[in-house]
Amino acid sequence: MLYKSPHSLPPSDYGGGRKRYFIGLMGASCLLLCLCLCIFLILPWFGLDLLEWWLPRISITVGLCGIVILSWLCLALLIHVYTGRAFAGVYSIRHMTIRFFYPFMELLARLTGIERDKLRRSFIKVNNELLLADFKQVTPDRLLLLLPHCVQNSRCPHRLTHNVDNCRRCGLCPIGALLAMRDQYGFRFAIASGGTIARRIVTSLRPSAIIAIACERDLISGIQDSYPLAVFGLLNERPHGPCTDTLLPLSRLESLVRLFLGLPPQEISTGS
Ligand code: SF4
Repeated sequence: MLYKSPHSLPPSDYGGGRKRYFIGLMGASCLLLCLCLCIFLILPWFGLDLLEWWLPRISITVGLCGIVILSWLCLALLIHVYTGRAFAGVYSIRHMTIRFFYPFMELLARLTGIERDKLRRSFIKVNNELLLADFKQVTPDRLLLLLPHCVQNSRCPHRLTHNVDNCRRCGLCPIGALLAMRDQYGFRFAIASGGTIARRIVTSLRPSAIIAIACERDLISGIQDSYPLAVFGLLNERPHGPCTDTLLPLSRLESLVRLFLGLPPQEISTGS
């Protein structure tokens, strides 16, 4: 029996993102690639044997092997995504999906008119669930919280990209609360003003796990760039539009930090 992954996350935490977009487009990509491989099965009918007698055999072998391998990879990944259960070879499949299949799925989404962000949210959800299925606890100094600079209040005069402690914790944006959280749990905390800076921060701090908060597009490129590093993606909130005074789900973030550090979930006070 195939049971749904116990690490399944609520779609509401992903702007309504559901795994079905990822699963559907992954299946469609695989089907299309298999159809392309069928060319190798058809070629022998067009006089390939007139060139060399062994060419049709090679062509059919390549076509059949390609279709079997691709179908197995796709099926294995879909079962892994749905059940959260890992089995031999599944990590190389994840690698292939992130590096090879995902750009193909984006192209397919564009051609079929599926909103790009829907696929991106779906992918982030799938990535997070797979990461939780293969969860490994980390020490605070190996956990990095990485944020985009748009979380900082746009009128704040303090420069934080080189030193987050330049923040005066005035309460106008979530940075002050995040610094208090960092002081409490001891994780690493950095703000990146772009992809290049983010990569530089990751290279210099060498974390074992990253909790990244950003928009769909930046999270996808962060997950792709950092692979095989574990990157848990959290979507930011954009009440003032993109890239301006963005917010983040602080209580969810704290639960995640506790989970990564192997601390028990925080008890919710019910009052007396
Ligand atoms: S909390 Fe820090 S970063 Fe945010 S506005 Fe105040 S001083 Fe600036």
